[in-house]
Amino acid sequence: MSSNEVREVIIIGGGPAGYTAALYAARANLQPLVIEGFNWGGQLMITSDVENYPGYPEGIMGPEMMQDFRRQAERFGAEFVTDDVTRVDVSERPFRVWVEDEEHRAQTVIIATGASARQLGLESEVKLQGRGVSYCATCDAAFFPQKHVVVVGGGDSAMEEATFLTRFASKVTIVHRREEFRASQIMLDRARANEKIEWITNAVVDEVLGDGHVTGVRLRDVNTDETWEIEADGLFAAIGHDPNTGLFLDQLDHDEAGYLITKPGSTETNIPGVFAVGDVVDHVYRQAITAAGTGSMGALDAERYLAAQQGHVMAAEAAPRV
Ligand code: NAP
Repeated sequence: MSSNEVREVIIIGGGPAGYTAALYAARANLQPLVIEGFNWGGQLMITSDVENYPGYPEGIMGPEMMQDFRRQAERFGAEFVTDDVTRVDVSERPFRVWVEDEEHRAQTVIIATGASARQLGLESEVKLQGRGVSYCATCDAAFFPQKHVVVVGGGDSAMEEATFLTRFASKVTIVHRREEFRASQIMLDRARANEKIEWITNAVVDEVLGDGHVTGVRLRDVNTDETWEIEADGLFAAIGHDPNTGLFLDQLDHDEAGYLITKPGSTETNIPGVFAVGDVVDHVYRQAITAAGTGSMGALDAERYLAAQQGHVMAAEAAPRV
C-alpha cells in the first residue's frame, strides 16, 4: 500500500526526542507524521518517578510525561502511526519509510529510535523478566525492600544502579566479568564505600534460578569454569545499551557500537535531509532532557533544510529558460 503524498517530515520514534521534534515541526506547520513504534514512549515507559526533568518540581511518572509530550505535539497537528518501521530507503528522494507493506514518503526524515538496555542472553533471564529480572533500578528498586539483589556489570550504570538499590535492598552483590572496572573512579569509589555492596569479580551469571520468581543465580568463574549458586531475590542487568539502528546501518554513517554519527553542532547525518536525534546518537548523556533538546534541534534543522530546498526550487523556476 502506498500513498502519493510526500510529507515534509517523517519522524521515526516516539520518545522524548521524537515527540519534541514532532512538537517543533508541527508548530512550524510541517505537519509531521510520527511513526512512534508499537511500544511508543521509549525508555521512560519503564521508569517510575522522573525527578530531574525541569518544570516538574514534584516529579512526574515517566509514562504520564510521555503522554503529555505526545499530546502537546498532537495539539499542533502532528499525526501518529502506532507501529514499528520495518524498512527505510534514504538512497533516493523522496525518502521512503515502510510499516510492513504500507509506504510513507517524505522530503526529510528525523530518526529518534533511541536505545535499548542490553540483555545477558539467557533463556532463564527472559522467562523471569518482570519477575525479579530488571534492567532499571530506578524503576524497580522499591520492589526489593530488605532483599538481596545481584547487579551485573562493571560500568557507571552498574555502580549507579547498585548504589541506588542499597536505599531499599539489605544487600547488593555486584558481579563483574573482569577484575578491572570500566566505571569512572568517583562512581566506583562511592560504590566501594557502601557497606551494603559486596563484590564478585571474574564471574558471569550462567543461569537465573527460580520458578515464577527469581530465587538465585548460578555464577561461573571465567578463569576456572567452576560454577556455584547464590541466593538472591532479584537480578539487575546493567551492562549497557544498544542503539536501535538496525534499519539504518547499511545506509548511514555510524560508530563501532552502531550509534549514528551527525555533523558536529548539527543533527544532520551523512545524507542531507536525514537527521538523527536523542539516544540513537548519544551514548554519553542519555537523559530525557538531552534527548528532548536534540529533538528540537532536529526539527529546526529539517525546517531550515526544507526552506533551503524550496529556495532552490523557486530560484530554478525564476531562472530564464534558454
Ligand atoms: P558500559 O560503560 O558499556 O559498561 C557495561 C559494563 O557491562 C562493562 O563493565 C562490561 O564489561 C559489562 N558487560 C557488557 N556485556 C556484558 C555481558 N554480556 N555479561 C557481563 N557483563 C557485561 O555501559 P554503562 O555502564 O551503561 O555506561 C554507558 C555510558 O553511560 C558510559 O559512558 C557511562 O560513563 C555513562 N553513564 C554515566 C553515568 C553517570 O555519570 N551518572 C551513569 C550511567 C552511565 P567489560 O568492562 O568487561 O566490557
